[in-house]
Amino acid sequence: MKTATNKKETTAKATAKSTSTTKTATKAGVTKPKSDAASGLTELFEDGLKDIYWAEKALTKALPKMAKNATSKELIDALNNHLTETEGQISRLEQVFELAGQKATAKKCDAMAGLIEEGNGILEETEIGVVRDAGIIAACQKIEHYEIATYGTLRQFAETLGMSEAASLLEQTLEEEKGADKALTIVAVNAVNFEAAEAN
Ligand code: ZN
Ligand code: FE
Ligand code: FE
Ligand code: FE
Repeated sequence: MKTATNKKETTAKATAKSTSTTKTATKAGVTKPKSDAASGLTELFEDGLKDIYWAEKALTKALPKMAKNATSKELIDALNNHLTETEGQISRLEQVFELAGQKATAKKCDAMAGLIEEGNGILEETEIGVVRDAGIIAACQKIEHYEIATYGTLRQFAETLGMSEAASLLEQTLEEEKGADKALTIVAVNAVNFEAAEAN
């Protein structure tokens, strides 16, 4: 009887320990959290905001470079239009930071840094003209998809946290990113591929 009670208590303790944040020793292969690691969804949300804030700022430099390297007028227009939207997205993120009671801070987004680097690599690896245009579209769509995933998550986090105003701002940006992705598909299908066929 006594043994059974003890066993139950031990199991309850073990369950509580496994569901709470791990601050004790980590198993082999499990990454040890840093001292400032997020312990709740609010922090994870704020970390995500800092990440995408860095990414959007980086894109205000990357998009003009892509536009300079593009040949198709439709592509240049799409990139410039999205640059304007990106500037608006940065102000929207600043509003979200304010709603979260946080100072707008940028923290390097390794994924966006990598996507931009890959885009720069594509420029070097393509002849100027329709082929480079097709490469620019491919690189930019990877970027848009990363942003779509990010804003989808952040909007959901905001909703879960009961931050409806922040959620609506993030939703607006999410729709813009989806629109940018669609616009690039249209350019690829209607302008770049057509021009490529004519060049042959
Ligand atoms: Zn990012
Ligand atoms: Fe964006
Ligand atoms: Fe990131
Ligand atoms: Fe975008």
